[in-house]
This record gives sequence, structure tokens and C-alpha cells, in this order.
Amino acid sequence: MSLTEIPRLSLGLFPTPIHRLDNISCELGIDLWIKRDDLTGLGLGGNKVRKLEFLLAEAKAQGAEIVFTTGGAQSNHAMLTAAAANRLGMTPVLILKKRGVTACKGNQLLEKLLGAEVIFLDTDDYAEIYAEMDRIGAERGRPYYKIPCGGSNALGSLGYVACAREIAQQGMHFDHIVCAEGSGGTMAGMALGAKLYLPGTKVHGMMVDTDPFDEITPRLMREAADLLGEKVNITTDDYALRDQCGPGYAIPSADGNAAVRLMAEKEGIFLDPVYTGKAFAGLIAMAREGAFREEEKVLFLHTGGAGGLFAISEED
Ligand SMILES: *Cc1c(COP(=O)(O)O)cnc(C)c1O
Repeated sequence: MSLTEIPRLSLGLFPTPIHRLDNISCELGIDLWIKRDDLTGLGLGGNKVRKLEFLLAEAKAQGAEIVFTTGGAQSNHAMLTAAAANRLGMTPVLILKKRGVTACKGNQLLEKLLGAEVIFLDTDDYAEIYAEMDRIGAERGRPYYKIPCGGSNALGSLGYVACAREIAQQGMHFDHIVCAEGSGGTMAGMALGAKLYLPGTKVHGMMVDTDPFDEITPRLMREAADLLGEKVNITTDDYALRDQCGPGYAIPSADGNAAVRLMAEKEGIFLDPVYTGKAFAGLIAMAREGAFREEEKVLFLHTGGAGGLFAISEED
């Protein structure tokens, strides 16, 4: 099935704007642009909206009444899943790992406002969490749909294949696209989408977690291509990865925090400490290493994360 034939609900406001970052371009000596997926129009915006358009279309088609998902305590994905499920008349149940800030701050506060049911499990084992979803789903006796952590399966990744297509339709060419890679779906979708719709664009995933993304990225790209019936040969030339995790997933890094401040001070745009700050720090480092030539256009994908900004402590 081609991209436009795969069932998709409308949850966001697309296309998201692309504009130049004049001040930071000047500071870094590069031609830097930003795609504003922090303005996707649901909740506080963010990349998960594009994935949920595909995932929840499948949930609806299957007649689901309950939507389960998971992540850490401050998961932007879980919060946006709750917002989207509310809008579509399904009941969100969030089974979150007891990791990160569990107090009623940031995304926890937003989930309270959304009226979402939140259950904490003291585990790092996702298999245990998915089993709990099945247990609760069976107990409630209503049809349910399970969304994996970050919405990062092949179907969710199509959201970023569609984003690459959207960039092509916006009529702009970029030599480089830089995005955060946390559970992998955004990067995989963007890299596959670039291969299909953006010839000459290299996609760089800034890894903010320690998972084996050199396996996850091409696997998700292949699985997403299979859904689209696209016969593409994925090679290591189709994507680039860079370690930007710092002290650990969801633990702020010094260069990430400096990048958050630079974007706020120079451009009046807020990044977050878990994903976009670390990803932008990677872009800054690449610019300083001379990875971008003067005549090349660089696009930073702002994937959102505003909710998490309100759950950091003053010392960070
Ligand atoms: C989830 C998330 C990411 C990472 O996207 P993945 O598809 O999980 O790799 C990046 N930025 C923000 C703000 C996110 O919430």
C-alpha cells in the first residue's frame, strides 16, 4: 500500500513551518533552518502526533475502546497518546516505568489535566509492562490497543516518512537533516522518507539513549518500507548516528543544557533537556567539527518536548 493509502487520522496541524535560524546560523557559520514539529497542534505539540495519526487509525479500525501505552514518568509520548485518545473518544491507560520525575509536574501534571489513568510499575522490563496491559485489558473486558514505547514500530515510523514527504512538498532542499533518536521511529521514518522523497539529503540521528540504534534504525526502516510495499535496499549510507546521550537517558548533559540556552537566547525557541537539547548540541558539535560545508543547508527537526521542560530541577 502506498503512503497515502494507509489509514491515517487527522490529529495535527500540518504542514509544520520551516524557517531559518538567522542568529545561530551567524554564530555557527552555517545555513541553519528549523522544522517546527514542536507546533504539531495537539497537546503541547511534538513528534508523537505524526506517529499517532497512523497508530490510532489502526486502533479505531480494530474497534479499540482502551488505548494503552508506556514510557518513563515524563514521557511526552504517553501524554500525547492520552490527548489524542481523548479527542478520538477512546480511554487512555498509561502504564509508566517508575523512572524520572513522578511528582505532579511536567507531563504528569498534563496527564492529570487530561484525566488520564496513570499506573506506575517499578520495572525496566517492557515485557512485564506489555503483559500488564493484557492483564488489565482482559480484566476490563473491553477491546484494547497497545502502543509500544515511543510509538516506535513500523506503523508509527510512517509518520516521519510522511514528514519527509511534507518537506519535499514544501519545496525546499536540505543537504542535512538532524533529529533526536530516542526510541528510533522518528529517525527511521525520516531516513526512509529521505531515501524515497528527498534525494541528496543525509539524515543524522542524535542518539539520546543507549539502545543499539545501529540495529534498530535499519530494521525499522526495512519494516516501514515493507508496509509501503517499497523495495528499497537499506545500507549504512542511508543514515548517520551520533552518540549524544551524555550521562544517561533523561539525565541532562552539560552540552545539552548549553544548547537549550543558546536556542532560547538567540532565537526565542524552547528546546527540552531530554531530547531536543541533546540533539541540538550534536548539531552544534558537528558544525564546529566542520561537518557542514558553507553552501550546504542544514535542517534541525524540533521534535517538541515542552512538557518535560517543566519537570527539571533548578540545578540542571
Ligand atoms: C520521543 C521524542 C523524541 C524521540 O523520538 P523517537 O521516535 O522516540 O526516537 C524526540 N524528541 C521528543 C521531544 C520526544 O518526545
